[in-house]
Amino acid sequence: MKYIGILGSTGSVGSQSLEVVWKHQDKLKIKFLAAKTNVNKLIEQCNKFSPEYVCIYDQSKYEILKRNTDIKNILVGSSGIFELCQLTNIDTIINAIVGYQGLEPTIKIIESGTNIALSNKESIVQAGHIVIELAKSKNVKIFPIDSEHSALWQCIIGEPENRIRKIILTASGGPFRTLPYNKFSSITPKEALAHPNWSMGNKISIDSATMMNKGFEMIEAFWLFNIQPKNIEIVIHPQSIIHSMVEYIDGSIKAQLSNPDMRLPIQYALSYPDRFELDDLKFDISKFSNLEFSQKELDKFECIDLAFRAINLGGSYPTILNVSNDLAVELFLNKKINFLDIPKIIKDCMDSHNYIKLPLLSDILSLTKWTESYINRKYLS
Ligand code: MG
Repeated sequence: MKYIGILGSTGSVGSQSLEVVWKHQDKLKIKFLAAKTNVNKLIEQCNKFSPEYVCIYDQSKYEILKRNTDIKNILVGSSGIFELCQLTNIDTIINAIVGYQGLEPTIKIIESGTNIALSNKESIVQAGHIVIELAKSKNVKIFPIDSEHSALWQCIIGEPENRIRKIILTASGGPFRTLPYNKFSSITPKEALAHPNWSMGNKISIDSATMMNKGFEMIEAFWLFNIQPKNIEIVIHPQSIIHSMVEYIDGSIKAQLSNPDMRLPIQYALSYPDRFELDDLKFDISKFSNLEFSQKELDKFECIDLAFRAINLGGSYPTILNVSNDLAVELFLNKKINFLDIPKIIKDCMDSHNYIKLPLLSDILSLTKWTESYINRKYLS
């Protein structure tokens, strides 16, 4: 039996993780659940999975949670989240928190020596050098819950790391792949949230629409698989069937394919090195006579360039990239800025911050605060 904890259990990845656990109750058991604000969904989940611990980040929801479940250990706030990260006797903690708030829990989980199934790619974008070094020193495994990185991981298993020539990250291109650039400024949040292939949460759907998601994934691949950015190629593959590819020095390319369904990378992160059945995910090859690849539409998406710029400059640039993107996406969702303001604000923050060559965790937290107040001051007053 594997014991699992989930941070962000009511979100898209959290809910799909619970579907996976439900199907494999003979192998997986929920030790704790934690959510930010959606107390009603959390109560439902508690009553179905009976975790030993539950945490609601929003303290004002504590009473409702207490009244409606019989879980003995109910925690609140960030201290509650941190307490869960430090529990022992857990095999894997899924970090499915959205955005830059996922970083500190990631660090706490690794510090306590528990393996982590990481959906919060922002942890790695924001502080890759800290997260990866710490995981190495604590002998903690980071299992990616990102379809591309799960694909890369599956293609790399059994191969010598130094025989990789390049990584090819596939991207659906999001909802605006074919939209002319001169229409970008009038894109609405509703249009940007309508992803053609994947069902995902709001933040990552906007990141997919701007293609910052692919920029983040390039940074994530750099840290997880130790591949230089110049050896990471991005290609648009609108069908989202090939989830990424690895090219080796002899020209051989391995790809991982499946229908686009997040339950597969989630389940693999929990079943590894084994595989569990996912019986309703069957691939009908006759439906995909045409798998397309193209790079000509990539130029429209400035966020990809910003991500390459940030990782090549290094130091504090990726931190600023990540935090300013989170905040700009929120402003866009709240209709305070337009779609093209997202890369504009990120670039402004990157250019305006005081560069730190090797930021410590405390520097990263103060850079986060700086970015919040800079954006508030300049774009909200
Ligand atoms: Mg992905």
